[in-house]
Amino acid sequence: MTTPTSLDTATTWPAPSSKPHRPLMPAMLRGARGRCPACGEGALFDGYLTVKHSCSACGEELHHHRADDAPPYFTILIVGHIIVSLVLAVEVAFVPPMWLHVALWVPLTIASSLVLLRPIKGAIVGLQWAFYMHGFDPDAEPEDAVMLPAGHPR
Ligand SMILES: [Zn+2]
Repeated sequence: MTTPTSLDTATTWPAPSSKPHRPLMPAMLRGARGRCPACGEGALFDGYLTVKHSCSACGEELHHHRADDAPPYFTILIVGHIIVSLVLAVEVAFVPPMWLHVALWVPLTIASSLVLLRPIKGAIVGLQWAFYMHGFDPDAEPEDAVMLPAGHPR
């Protein structure tokens, strides 16, 4: 007979939950399409990047997301790798003048960033919803709860 160790709990991550399973990929794809990650019907965004308070179709509260800097981070990561690769390939193959590089790559970088930012943010909101992150977890502490050390005056 063996005694349980901390390693045993690591094999059960994520911890068993009574909450219903939320499939990750459908939630992220719905978010990437700008739809509610819960139902796929209601709009996720109010405008270009502002996430709606709640879904107009199913009522799911969407304001709990904390996408923060992740969408621009992944957008820069993807666009940077694509554009820099293309710049180097074009430079090696054609050696165009610098003005042509600027005229080509600056608008392409801006356009591709604007095209990618919204679906990436939607996918991240979908991921957070599927994993019950932040306020998407009904058992989570209220978002405005402040952790203060014991004895700290409020
Ligand atoms: Zn919905």
